Amino acid sequence: MNRSSHSCPEQNLDGGGYGGRLTIDLGALQHNYRLLVARAGQARVCCVVKADAYGVGVHRVAPALYAVGCRCFFVAQAVEAFSLRHILPVAADIGILNDFQPGEAEKIADARLIPVLNSLESIAEWIALCRARRQRLAAILQLDSGMSRLGLDAQALERLVADPVLFQLADIRYIMSHLACAEEKENPQNQMQLDYLRRALRRLPPTPVSFANSGGLFLGSRFAFDMVRPGIALYGVQSSQEKTDELHPVIALEARVIQTRQVEAGGRVGYGGSYQAASPMRVATIAVGYGDGWPRTLSNIGAAFWQGIRLPVIGHVSMDSTTLDISSLPQNTLKRGDGVELIGAHQTVGDVARDAGTIPYEILTNLGRRYERHYING
Ligand SMILES: *Cc1c(COP(=O)(O)O)cnc(C)c1O
Repeated sequence: MNRSSHSCPEQNLDGGGYGGRLTIDLGALQHNYRLLVARAGQARVCCVVKADAYGVGVHRVAPALYAVGCRCFFVAQAVEAFSLRHILPVAADIGILNDFQPGEAEKIADARLIPVLNSLESIAEWIALCRARRQRLAAILQLDSGMSRLGLDAQALERLVADPVLFQLADIRYIMSHLACAEEKENPQNQMQLDYLRRALRRLPPTPVSFANSGGLFLGSRFAFDMVRPGIALYGVQSSQEKTDELHPVIALEARVIQTRQVEAGGRVGYGGSYQAASPMRVATIAVGYGDGWPRTLSNIGAAFWQGIRLPVIGHVSMDSTTLDISSLPQNTLKRGDGVELIGAHQTVGDVARDAGTIPYEILTNLGRRYERHYING
């Protein structure tokens, strides 16, 4: 393990002093990629590494995926694509889900990035650039099939069908759409979106198709088409309820104990005094709080684990610390400097998300920038 493998250059403090330690298993990430490739059948797998690879660290994640054969990646914002261009070899295709801003088409084309064209306005800009450069510039066309977020709506589709010059002047690699309820296998909206997409495709020039995110991949092969765009599954989070495939967990999070103390009956713990000890108890304060992405909604709800023993969060989660009830541990077992598990064998990202009243995506993308980061099995 290379000691200088911290996630961000600004975090490269060899002096240590971290309140938490995030371990990222790149071997597990690669395992998950291979598993998704097997599941995708004929469809190409393009890895979604937006939002710093869901908080996991795009500068390590993207090369690790490239090393096991991935040649196409998606980010959300153009700014992410510009920096990913410098991280990956030139052979990699990089798609930008959020299209480009007015006037930025040239910069996108210069960096050989592939925008997802979401509106007639950006289509017009891309066509104008293709004409000006006498070049069929690569792009992806997105149709909205029932999410009302991004992509051409039914009306815009009519305009495109009436004047499909985009397909002659640009190199439209894929027509894509996005599922709104992919992690709910039984939700009828999945089939409705699929039916709509199929009808729309019949009206446009034959073009490869992309529909499924992680959840979509687990809905069945009819959702896979020619290319799939998994994100969360790569990072080890099962997006659907069924556990047929074995995704490996990618991240583990440990927090350091700063102090332990005795609290007498009636004593209050934390901001607002929201927790009051009913009887004498022992408390450990750990050096991770909401400033590290450990959600404040875990106040008096969540837990940490020590050697498999559940240590409930008591009181409000603070910015830089969280208080745990350690009364169930024999005296003097958990001490200042020791580590407790926040995410790991006993508590998954999904467990934390459920307790916090959110979704695993939000837990991952908020992973703290203050942690010591260890990338293993790279
Ligand atoms: C984020 C995103 C994905 C990846 O979704 P996961 O649920 O993380 O697999 C795929 N496609 C689009 C359009 C997205 O915005």
